[in-house]
Amino acid sequence: MDLGIAGKWALVCGASKGLGLGCAQALVREGVNVVIAARGAEGLQVATAGLLGDSLRPAATQVLSVASDVTTPEGRAALFAVPGGPGINFDIVVTNAGGPPPGDFRDWDREAWIKAVDANMLTPIELIKSTIDGMAERGFGRIVNITSSSVKSPIDILGLSNGARSGLTGFVAGVARSSIAARGVTINNLLPGKFDTDRLAGTLGAAAKKSGKPIEAIRAAQQAQIPAGRYGNPAEFGAICAFLCSVHAGYLTGQNILPDGGAYPGTY
Ligand code: NAD
Repeated sequence: MDLGIAGKWALVCGASKGLGLGCAQALVREGVNVVIAARGAEGLQVATAGLLGDSLRPAATQVLSVASDVTTPEGRAALFAVPGGPGINFDIVVTNAGGPPPGDFRDWDREAWIKAVDANMLTPIELIKSTIDGMAERGFGRIVNITSSSVKSPIDILGLSNGARSGLTGFVAGVARSSIAARGVTINNLLPGKFDTDRLAGTLGAAAKKSGKPIEAIRAAQQAQIPAGRYGNPAEFGAICAFLCSVHAGYLTGQNILPDGGAYPGTY
């Protein structure tokens, strides 16, 4: 299927690896020019080289990168000042940043909450605020927020994530249905279940240390709990993101899409 978005410009945040990189790769393969952002220049260099070297990348498709912490105002300003990039005129924006740490809510002070809300609620809102009106004026826009399955199925130790991301979800539900909906702009949230990325490897390592069990045993036990019998991979996550950004998904907005291998047990 031709997604109909070749030649458009996408901003993909948190894209030096993991789910963000999966989204960037799927978009680049559709001929979408991308600006990828992450904090570390080294990781970005490797990711950029990989995207440019992808044999499925249409020849004219551009890949630009910017080392930036998207949770800060300066970092967000840098996204819109990339030489050769589209400035603020992105057609597609994929918001993403690292998730907040796990813990016991009794230990979280105001500062911990502000940090989580800043990264996982206010940062996507600021990025939407900067780009959405231009998209509406041009008659096309796609915003995809990478959130978490914890929005639908909260995990007790991830209270910071449950809270901050739910705030974003409520906000998006309103804005997606505002006047921009009739002007070609959609906003959807992608809620990953368990995907095989460095972040997952980090949480597995911590669980192994705490329980004294080998990582492989914990992986196997977790995968057995997922109806699909495995973790997801960033490429299949990226393919869903690219479809949401396509011309075919113009009637799909304000939705929370849950790629989790069937792990969420509810009917709705
Ligand atoms: P990852 O650690 O593999 O990759 C995260 C990427 O984001 C990296 O490129 C990193 O450099 C970048 N990044 C982090 N903080 C940033 C910041 N402040 N500014 C710019 N770039 C930043 O993680 P992942 O598994 O791809 O997860 C992506 C998001 O999805 C996270 O918010 C995570 O909590 C959420 N999530 C992941 C899973 C999973 O199973 N992998 C499940 C649920 C939710």
